[in-house]
Amino acid sequence: MLDGCTPWPEDLAKRYRALGVWRGEPIGEALRKAARRFGPHTALVRGNRRITYAELDAWADRLAAGFAGHGIAPRERVVVQLPNVPEFAALCFALFRLGAIPVFALPAHRHSELRHLCELTGATVYIGPDTHRDFDHRALAEKLHAELPSLRSLFVVGEPSGNVKALPEAEPADFPAPDPSDVAFFLLSGGTTALPKLIPRTHDDYLYQSRAAASACELTRDDVYLAALPIGFNFAWGSPGLLGTLLTGGTAVLADDPTPETCFPLVEKENATVTALVPSLAQLWVEEAGWTGSNLGSLRLVQVGGARMKPEFVRSIGPALGCALQQVFGMAEGLLTFTREHGPAGHVLGTQGLPVSDEDELRIVGEGGAELSPGGIGELITRGPYTPRGYYRADDHNARVFTEDGFFRTGDLARLTEHGELVIEGRLKDMIIRGGDKISAGEVEAHLTEHPAVAAAAVIGVPDEFLGERTCAYVVARGTRPPTLAQLRELMHGRGVADYKLPDRLALVEALPLTPLGKVDKKALRAKEDIGEERAE
Ligand code: AMP
Repeated sequence: MLDGCTPWPEDLAKRYRALGVWRGEPIGEALRKAARRFGPHTALVRGNRRITYAELDAWADRLAAGFAGHGIAPRERVVVQLPNVPEFAALCFALFRLGAIPVFALPAHRHSELRHLCELTGATVYIGPDTHRDFDHRALAEKLHAELPSLRSLFVVGEPSGNVKALPEAEPADFPAPDPSDVAFFLLSGGTTALPKLIPRTHDDYLYQSRAAASACELTRDDVYLAALPIGFNFAWGSPGLLGTLLTGGTAVLADDPTPETCFPLVEKENATVTALVPSLAQLWVEEAGWTGSNLGSLRLVQVGGARMKPEFVRSIGPALGCALQQVFGMAEGLLTFTREHGPAGHVLGTQGLPVSDEDELRIVGEGGAELSPGGIGELITRGPYTPRGYYRADDHNARVFTEDGFFRTGDLARLTEHGELVIEGRLKDMIIRGGDKISAGEVEAHLTEHPAVAAAAVIGVPDEFLGERTCAYVVARGTRPPTLAQLRELMHGRGVADYKLPDRLALVEALPLTPLGKVDKKALRAKEDIGEERAE
């Protein structure tokens, strides 16, 4: 396995193989098999472009040969930052075939995040769009290239310029298949630490996750999955997402953005049957569905997850969208739980469902780490065949967030029902979930304290009707001229931080409340009402 990654213990790996959970198949080969079975069937749709399984397979081969021609070798890391375009899928399959390792950056990431990803992984290649939502990714790529000698090649989907080349294609060739137990790609953790951690996902573990998720959604080749969320998210990539759809022979329709304005006409035109949304978007869809004339009748299942939903809202989703709701709890670190259509009473509306694999182990533990009696609320810890045993190159952090016997401490507060269903009750980790975006409080605080007029900063999520939470920064000013919210946002923007991380509110305080141990008491901050803060537009 790639250096810096933690393999599963050999006895468990043997067990997963013996059970057929891990099939010993690289992801690139899984596409090849799908192309043999479903060749002329449509695999991907984007606007007026329709790509069959056979075409996608051949395209991935040409790209693999093109990348190899540029000297991209097995295990090289390739930062991929693309919106929902077919090239994203094709070039990832090409890289999987070579055994090169995509690192999934999000479209909203900027210099700060991308530089971190390149440095942490030693990436030699960046692949992005030319421009996206008025942002020039080529200029960003050139800047990274100038700063980082290891970043050798830049490719673009769209117009090349300067050092940034068009995606290379060449006559297909055979490449030695990568070891299926090795890392296929890196996902980003929502993160509670200053900068995002990377989660190594293997061919074996991720193919299993996507297949198990597809089976829990009862996907068939007649399904049309609408990829509304960015496909670089674990939810839309493999839960079951695009990958699960392709493994089943269905069609994945790529949406430019997840809004009802974009997606409703797509549902209608392509007869989409399944999609996945985060709660804030589901809310938008529910509101819009009430009064637009769009026909969403083809939808049979909407997955909603990634953040907490209010119970009253949960009830409205199915009736408003005219389809079944599936609640999803999941994380890029692995574990996925889904509600199932024929679960016990209260299952779909009142729980986050059951794990997608019988091999998933879930425990609820108290502060000392002891397992709680059934029904008790504590931290969810988990391990299983698609929950990796460590973050990449993060030994100290791993020692804290994995137990000695390999359970991942999720930082989520939960309980299990008598039927084994998971119910999420809250969060221990220092993270804000703003819409579907995860923001590490520590990362924002580290930026804010760089401002000369900031002596100390603590960031928390405050409830928000629409986004679930917004980011509020409590700041102790230094000197006589306290900073304004606009100045702090400008500071972070200027430091190349993704926009969704900029604080929405600012509250100036004399001092931050401290716990008896001298740490910032975020519970006390959360309990504050009427904070007299300044809000962004
Ligand atoms: P990510 O890896 O970005 O998908 O983030 C995973 C985290 O999102 C989990 O650890 C939870 O804190 C949160 N999360 C995901 N799904 C749900 C859900 N259905 N309800 C509440 N929180 C959720």
